[in-house]
Amino acid sequence: MVRYLPSVGMEVHAELKTRSKMFCRCPVAFGGEPNTRVCPVCLGLPGALPVPNRAAVEMVVRTALALNCQIAYDSVFHRKNYFYPDLPKGYQVSQYGETNPIGYQGWLGIPVKGGGTKRIAIRRVHLEEDTGKLMHLPSGGSGVDFNRAGVPLMEIVTEFPPDIESADEARDYLVQLRSILVWLGVCDGKMEEGSLRCEPNISIRPEGSDRHGVKTELKNLNSFRAVHQGVLFEVARQSAVLDRGERVVQETRGWNESTQTSFVMRTKESEQDYRYFACPDLAPMHFEKDWVERQRSELPELPLAMQERFQRQFGLNAEHSGLLVSDRDWAEFFEESVRLGGDAQVVCNWMNADFAKLLNESGQRARRDAQEDDSTASLVTPAHLADISRLILNGTVNSKVAKQLLGEAFATGAMPSRLVEQRGLTQVSDASLIQDAVARVIEDNPGPVDQFRSGKEGVIGFLVGKVMRETEGRANPSLVQEEMRRQLEK
Ligand SMILES: [Zn+2]
Repeated sequence: MVRYLPSVGMEVHAELKTRSKMFCRCPVAFGGEPNTRVCPVCLGLPGALPVPNRAAVEMVVRTALALNCQIAYDSVFHRKNYFYPDLPKGYQVSQYGETNPIGYQGWLGIPVKGGGTKRIAIRRVHLEEDTGKLMHLPSGGSGVDFNRAGVPLMEIVTEFPPDIESADEARDYLVQLRSILVWLGVCDGKMEEGSLRCEPNISIRPEGSDRHGVKTELKNLNSFRAVHQGVLFEVARQSAVLDRGERVVQETRGWNESTQTSFVMRTKESEQDYRYFACPDLAPMHFEKDWVERQRSELPELPLAMQERFQRQFGLNAEHSGLLVSDRDWAEFFEESVRLGGDAQVVCNWMNADFAKLLNESGQRARRDAQEDDSTASLVTPAHLADISRLILNGTVNSKVAKQLLGEAFATGAMPSRLVEQRGLTQVSDASLIQDAVARVIEDNPGPVDQFRSGKEGVIGFLVGKVMRETEGRANPSLVQEEMRRQLEK
């Protein structure tokens, strides 16, 4: 059997999180009544003139810098001409050329199993506008909703030949890219709503050959899982085609989520069909070098770099620190809590388990600098977790009581150490109190005690549990365990 090597190019479209559209002042939003966010500019009515959205341009520059791209100090908009009912102007404003897109020749690092990163070369990061949406009407026939037409869209394309060589890497690339876009605040990253769309192109070649095969492009992938499954499916499908002695046809294929298979949508247009030319309605853009350098210096530390730093600086493992950087507010919350005296590992454990669970259940968010009038922000602040971490580490409370304290802090905003003072929840480490409680439990439970003495060591957990109940969960569990064993083995 011939072994085939996959190559995957990635084309990602990200809707930018601006308030208004790319060339007009219509608002950007998801859903709503069709054709309620339109005007002569985004409908392409004769005589309407576009004005570029400065915020969108800046977002693309910041993204390009974060993706290690060269910046085109002079960059122009082109018209990409084609006819389709969702495109009111008959062309899409886009950016053409190798060194004209705002960003070009960059790279993105993806984590490699066992440590380190692999660089995925990026060919370009450019700015364009989104199209409308075709929809099937309940009464039959089709309609067009232009609410999305003219929404600023950033396209990020990997270099050819592609560095991505597996379905896993394709997914990892998208995970990292999405994480950076959300981190920078340029895209909300909602794949299910289409604000982040990924179209991988996939080809295979026999092992040993350096000639890249014919590629097919996949559409309708609206989750990381779909990207992974889609690439796996295409590699298998193309391998079967070549094994039968047939040829792979260059085409665009759709992904069917329910059957987990791809189907032919259309054979691919070639680039010349678009008759690109510089848009005469839009002035060329020019970026000052100083301004670009300022943007570069103001970039935040990016998620993967921060994750690696958390591992180095705090000794956290890759999984724990990966969870912390899954969201920028979350990561900043963690750092602030550590800065306020929390122990990194303790704070990390509580954030990723109990605190995350409380947030999930309530639909709230953790913010480092939450405002009081923000109803979606949790009342638990970094100071609360630092406080809990101190109470645990100095032995004031055990983790069971700490859990109750976190629950109360979550509901009321009360500081855990204050609650401990008010209610005397201090952990019992007093040796004589523990000795007495253990002795009582041994006396009251002759059956389990006999079992322990005849070799069933596991019973000790049951007996320790009894002591914990008797002390209302306040006894220091490791002292209880020690004392229980001492008295049983007497
Ligand atoms: Zn408009």
